[in-house]
Amino acid sequence: MNPLTELTTDILRFRDERNWAQFHSLRNLIVSLNLEAAELLELTQWKSDAEVSAAASGAARTALQDECADVLIYLLLIAEHAGIDLLDAARAKLLKNAARYPVASSYGSSRKHPSP
Ligand SMILES: [Mg+2]
Repeated sequence: MNPLTELTTDILRFRDERNWAQFHSLRNLIVSLNLEAAELLELTQWKSDAEVSAAASGAARTALQDECADVLIYLLLIAEHAGIDLLDAARAKLLKNAARYPVASSYGSSRKHPSP
């Protein structure tokens, strides 16, 4: 069992022990993922890049770690609900990204390429 599958099993156990599956529609999970991503974003509000980078290794690291974990937990719940293998999906998307952003035309550039 891969680590993501093991973690998903732990998350489902946590959820089921609390009878929370009834609240976990796909829509609610997607909303929750975005709310957690907003909490992650909130950690950067009114800060410079340098301040945010410093927080990643300083006292605010726990908050950053916690919000990253919340995002991952909801992402895993969404994938489980929708029957998506995240490792396969990420590998497939990486291949699509490689085709969309060839090294020769993307190296050192932040320019967005059109969708194929
Ligand atoms: Mg949170």
